[in-house]
Amino acid sequence: MHIAVIGGGITGLSAAWELQQRGIKFTLLEASNHWGGKVISSKLELNKDAHFLVEGGPDTLITRKPEAWDLANELGMLDQVVNPGSETSGTYVLDNASLYPIPVSPTKFISSPLLTVRGKLRMLAEPFQPARRDDEDESLADFVRRRLGHEALDKFIGPVLGGIYNTNPETQSIMVSSPIMREMEKDGGGLFAGALKRAFRAGKQKGPKKPRFVSFKNGLQALTDELARQLKGDMRLNARVEKISHHGNGYQIFMADGSSVQADGVILATLANQTSAMIKEIAAEASRQLGEIRHQNIGTLSLVYREADIPREPVISGLMIPRREKRMIDAVTFTSRKMPERSTAGYAVLRVFIGGGAPEMVEFDDERLIEAVKKELAELLGITAAPQTWTAFRWQSGFPQAHVGHLKRVDEIEKLLPKGLALAGSSYRGIAVPDCIHQGREAAARLAMKGNM
Ligand SMILES: Cc1cc2nc3c(=O)[nH]c(=O)nc-3n(C[C@H](O)[C@H](O)[C@H](O)COP(=O)(O)OP(=O)(O)OC[C@H]3O[C@@H](n4cnc5c(N)ncnc54)[C@H](O)[C@@H]3O)c2cc1C
Repeated sequence: MHIAVIGGGITGLSAAWELQQRGIKFTLLEASNHWGGKVISSKLELNKDAHFLVEGGPDTLITRKPEAWDLANELGMLDQVVNPGSETSGTYVLDNASLYPIPVSPTKFISSPLLTVRGKLRMLAEPFQPARRDDEDESLADFVRRRLGHEALDKFIGPVLGGIYNTNPETQSIMVSSPIMREMEKDGGGLFAGALKRAFRAGKQKGPKKPRFVSFKNGLQALTDELARQLKGDMRLNARVEKISHHGNGYQIFMADGSSVQADGVILATLANQTSAMIKEIAAEASRQLGEIRHQNIGTLSLVYREADIPREPVISGLMIPRREKRMIDAVTFTSRKMPERSTAGYAVLRVFIGGGAPEMVEFDDERLIEAVKKELAELLGITAAPQTWTAFRWQSGFPQAHVGHLKRVDEIEKLLPKGLALAGSSYRGIAVPDCIHQGREAAARLAMKGNM
């Protein structure tokens, strides 16, 4: 058996890894000149004494989803794992053009000016709300309104979740983005009770406790670099797939450079909007429906400042900016506060997220982009100095949007595919790196089973 995997991001690499573990021959085809897709770590050097490690795409992995941790273990990389600490401490939200800390402790919650007394009481009444126990989908916004009230949604949960998923909470599927919240409701009757139940169960578990968020000492790209290094199949960079045709009982895959590869099965580990064009000839209806899954522009800029150029107050580690604020940027992380070991003393590194509130930013050239970002940072955080250096990463139509009903839609598309084709990756069943690893490995395991080819 020979399987072709299209797309050399974390999904495709994980699929190939699973095939290799099962002794199945594979060819991995990646359009760009780099393995890892959006997993991209980069070194910035200001002078010989000032260097910085920045991430273009993902920067941390959540260990509640075990797939990345397990993969790192299989690759012998656990000694490189680092713990960057909590994602939410020191995070602010922009509300009516003012900055407010997101209340993360009970005392901060009680004294927070972000919510009215009525809003706080509504949140505290969460345990008394009727629990929904079915498996039907709903939007993130409907879920939060139902459990915690509309203020909680508008003032901080919406901006935080909307920021993480670069999406509009009113349309985003809860079952794709935060199924754990619905599980807690189903299991414990509500979020507070469900969280307590989980904490109690975790407390009773034996063995070493994993930190909640992890990364690797040399950046997340260490994971995809190591995967690529340990993969022994036919691995091709600069191999852009254009079209897949039937060939006997299998498939023929045609590349942009005129070459082709034959395989018994194909794992499509590219985004739905990229996959759609490839399978037009062999699965017209599936191709049409894949093309209907929306993808948003997304990008990040990492900017290095002299510490002295950053206003002393407020001391923030992150800023979430709801779309209703109508700003050109979506969020800011002070990377040098979150992961100081990746920076040099005397400098501050900021990561700015773009593409949600103002999608056009991702299409700006460097000059226009940096001017727009500088203006935003001056108005929002009082940073008026120019960065010492900066770099940008952009993905046009690169961030999948999972609307309510998304999982059912993916099930239906899969039923339309001819035998021997499998979909995997961030456009389908979860966007986080562990979700992508899971899907890549699961697609490989499925194709490896007799009868599925
Ligand atoms: C800014 C940002 C921050 C994020 N932060 C986090 C985080 O902190 N934690 C987390 O878990 N997740 C995070 N994510 C999500 C996660 O990084 C992505 O969902 C995941 O990396 C996607 O992996 P993938 O392999 O499915 O897709 P991609 O990384 O998009 O890989 C697809 C690959 O297919 C290739 N390709 C495309 N077309 C073709 C073709 N025609 N022929 C051959 N190859 C093709 C592309 O070049 C690419 O390499 C973040 C994402 C972004 C953008």
